[in-house]
Amino acid sequence: MAWHVVIAGGGFGGFYAARTLERTLPPQAARITLVNDVNFMLYTPLLPGAAAGTLEPRHVVVPLREELKRTHLRLGTVVGGRPADKTLQVRTLKGTVEDLAYDHLVVALGSVSRTLPIPGLAEHGIGFKSLPEAIELRNHVLRTLEVGETLEDPEERKKWLTYVFVGAGYAGLEGLAELQDFAADVIDLYPRCRTQGMRWILVEARDRVMPEIPADLADFATTNLRGRGIAIRTGTTLDAVTEDEVTLSGGEVIPTRTLVWTAGVKPHPVIARLGLPLDDQGRITVDRTMRVDGQDSVWALGDAAAVPDPAKKGRQATPPTAQHAIRQGKRAGRNVAASIGGGKIKPFTFKTKGVFVDMGQGQAVATTLGLRWRGLPAWWLARSYHLAALPGTKRKWRLLIDWNIQLLFGRDASELGGLGRAPGLGVDPTGGGTPAGSANGSAPVTGAPDAATEPVAPS
Ligand SMILES: Cc1cc2nc3c(=O)[nH]c(=O)nc-3n(C[C@H](O)[C@H](O)[C@H](O)COP(=O)(O)OP(=O)(O)OC[C@H]3O[C@@H](n4cnc5c(N)ncnc54)[C@H](O)[C@@H]3O)c2cc1C
Repeated sequence: MAWHVVIAGGGFGGFYAARTLERTLPPQAARITLVNDVNFMLYTPLLPGAAAGTLEPRHVVVPLREELKRTHLRLGTVVGGRPADKTLQVRTLKGTVEDLAYDHLVVALGSVSRTLPIPGLAEHGIGFKSLPEAIELRNHVLRTLEVGETLEDPEERKKWLTYVFVGAGYAGLEGLAELQDFAADVIDLYPRCRTQGMRWILVEARDRVMPEIPADLADFATTNLRGRGIAIRTGTTLDAVTEDEVTLSGGEVIPTRTLVWTAGVKPHPVIARLGLPLDDQGRITVDRTMRVDGQDSVWALGDAAAVPDPAKKGRQATPPTAQHAIRQGKRAGRNVAASIGGGKIKPFTFKTKGVFVDMGQGQAVATTLGLRWRGLPAWWLARSYHLAALPGTKRKWRLLIDWNIQLLFGRDASELGGLGRAPGLGVDPTGGGTPAGSANGSAPVTGAPDAATEPVAPS
């Protein structure tokens, strides 16, 4: 009878594990099931482009059914696991929880934003980790401009035109740079806002931005962003957030309606419910071959696992990056195949070959194979790399077309926050009822009229 290999999570690690297994194992040898909560893989390095409206949201994802030929995609949410019984619990789309039996399990459930117990952060902060968050952010920026345009009081408008990002790793820095570029492009359509100007502020607890890259490249990025008017506060932390202001360490209070939290990731919470050993940061502990400690037939990788880093001494784990998750997925796929077919199980040996940080406006910094790049050449390298790395020829064409359309025609300022949230038949789109004191039913005038019907801060 064929072996059953279950892969939990269809992001970078899980997708490449499935693809490697398809290519390595003969069809009669194993049945491969991939459990994922959405039917696509999100190509996160392109997320800032989606947030900035340069790329269509559908073009930054890879449809799993198109790219995986003989893997059974099972759409559902992993909610737990019993390794002793070799079963995984999956909540189906119908809402029932079912047991899924396996012979080998590969866990690649990724991570979520790492938050801290900062007053107001959970209520008022916006994350930048998923596609819904990226699209919400773009719509939010547009709504702040729309509200700003309606306000008479410049002091009040200033709050709506101030954007604070916390966390200057590559995700935060790329997100901020692309969104600022987008807002600078479309602000010409908002005369009052253009006259007033925007404030963009990047806050980082460490003493420099992007510890992932050499100091001289980080300095180049800092100078470039400051040249665009972006304020960078290093050695500073966030103390509190309210609906209309943030407080930084040292007591500085910044009036703002936008706080974006990009200060790192932690393993997905479901990892703690799988019955597997965890390290002090909540990652699954594995050996160098990615086999989970104390388990013969469970493997773990990517952001969810503490895979010993071949580039470092001891058991220090690899950083949470796509380039590691991809290679770990491929190696875990080969190891599972070897384990089934009696081959040699090998350790994960990949060492980082480079990093790209795209800052928009034709500017980037990069390191590749020991060489350092900055400015336009780095930007070309970054784009070429992602074009080559994005799986699927059709996807590559879509990406190329989106980039060129933006260069030719600029960006679109339509605010599409209602997409996917149809009000339902018979629902009064005004919210129903006649506002108090308004005999003819027109809306009362407030400081921020649109905010009454369309909240800008996420709840
Ligand atoms: C904005 C941004 C930009 C980035 N840019 C880069 C970059 O340029 N280069 C780089 O190397 N890295 C980059 N990264 C990091 C990279 O995205 C991650 O390290 C990588 O995605 C980790 O891969 P993974 O397979 O572990 O997890 P993921 O790719 O996150 O995959 C996890 C999968 O599991 C699914 N899932 C989660 N929970 C469940 C559940 N309970 N049930 C079922 N399915 C579930 C998710 O939907 C997802 O499909 C970036 C990250 C972000 C947020």
